[in-house]
Amino acid sequence: MQVNGEPSFRESVDLMFNRAVSLMDLSPGLEQKIRVCNSTYTVRFGVRLRGKLETFTGYRSVHSEHMEPVKGGIRYAMSVNQDEVEALAALMTYKCALVETPFGGSKGGLCIDPRAWDEHELEQITRRFAYELIKRDLIHPAQNVPAPDMGTGEREMAWIADQYARMNTTDINAKACVTGKPPHAGGIQGRVEATGRGVQYALREFFRHKEDAAKAGLSGDLDGKHVIVQGLGNVGYHAAKFLSEEDGCKVIAIIERDGGLVNENGLDIEAIRQHLNANQGSVKGFVGGTYIEDGASLLEMACDILIPAALEGVIHKENAPRIKAPLIIEAANGPITFGGDEILRKKGTIIVPDMYANAGGVTVSYFEWVKNLSHIRFGRMQRRAEEARHILLVDELERLSSEKGVSWTMSPGFKERYLRGAGELELVRSGLDDTMRGAYQAMREVWHSRPEVEDLRVAAYLVSIGRIAQTYQTKGL
Ligand code: NAD
Repeated sequence: MQVNGEPSFRESVDLMFNRAVSLMDLSPGLEQKIRVCNSTYTVRFGVRLRGKLETFTGYRSVHSEHMEPVKGGIRYAMSVNQDEVEALAALMTYKCALVETPFGGSKGGLCIDPRAWDEHELEQITRRFAYELIKRDLIHPAQNVPAPDMGTGEREMAWIADQYARMNTTDINAKACVTGKPPHAGGIQGRVEATGRGVQYALREFFRHKEDAAKAGLSGDLDGKHVIVQGLGNVGYHAAKFLSEEDGCKVIAIIERDGGLVNENGLDIEAIRQHLNANQGSVKGFVGGTYIEDGASLLEMACDILIPAALEGVIHKENAPRIKAPLIIEAANGPITFGGDEILRKKGTIIVPDMYANAGGVTVSYFEWVKNLSHIRFGRMQRRAEEARHILLVDELERLSSEKGVSWTMSPGFKERYLRGAGELELVRSGLDDTMRGAYQAMREVWHSRPEVEDLRVAAYLVSIGRIAQTYQTKGL
């Protein structure tokens, strides 16, 4: 499938894969085994809605089962098609290997405009779709574990989990059949924010390596950096919020489906979110920024960091030459086409690739799956014991200082912060931060140690394909 003379999304992913494997010493057979999508199941089902039978088309692709379960989100959008689902499933395989979550890659999608149906109707459609997948083990705690993606969230995941439990009444691990559930329905603290939080941690790690930032012509840390975000949905909203509220970034433009907003002094992300909620997702009429009808043109505005966090293929051969950002972090999956990527690379733009940049979601999904299988909240056993040990130490320090007549006082708030044991949210964030730092370091090690590796994307593929190949070889394939 050709779009504007460019390869399709799946072909783009394969071409990027080929660039990397040309630098590896894999047998052609193994190379092909890793590249291909193992299977795609298409389901067409009917639901009686508004007095008539509506037929829906959905997909679940399994790209690689070198590890099971396989993992990947379910997307609801009218644009969903087999090529896209297979491309996204492939990216899941590479992403899981890169951030060391023990899963193969999968993805699902339903051709539907979720805004065209009310909540009760969406529940009926979701349960029917889930039924079709569950009865074929395409949703299963040990075999295939979906998660949210564009157009789906906690609510849909809770319906899927409940549907699975109804069809598998004696499965004690039923809740682990899907991740991204609300915390009261077996989810985990910090999952909703996880992908955006991961983007923040990825950028922090990037700026910790001064020579990497220098390659993009940037210096210092995130403080004061000018940022543009496309898509203020789950991923884009959280990334923009954390970067502006916690790291001192200025979000100077955001791009949504009906236009963009610009404010060189920094946009108030929380206020825009409230405006979107109150105006059926429209940015028009927001008073804290200038409205620009041609939102996509803002991708070309000067800034330090560009964060595409909406759709695939938004930066392509045509607009890539005009992109001014020296650093692009791919919060969305596949936002840069193969052709666009080539042009940007030649210009010296540094691209933090999707398979790393948005891996925060699957990382915290992994924690949620482990929590479901262990049937206990993280930190429940250790938290108070940890607090007790800290109290012991602080009490002893205070006793020693009073005995020796030394007069010192702890800084305000220190005692309270030090004594507090880590709860689930702190542990999740700590695990996520560690994962994002570790994966970045693995990529940059390859980037800097092999002169033929031009960019972080190829470095990411090399790390990831190397690990997948090892798994296949160990299995004796
Ligand atoms: P979402 O549905 O919550 O948000 C998408 C946002 O993009 C919405 O606000 C929508 O209005 C906006 N949008 C749609 N079309 C647009 C256009 N043409 N221009 C500008 N904005 C547009 O989806 P999400 O979960 O935030 O996912 C966004 C991207 O991140 C996708 O590529 C997805 O695959 C990827 N991703 C998501 C997760 C996750 O945990 N949700 C994890 C990894 C990767």
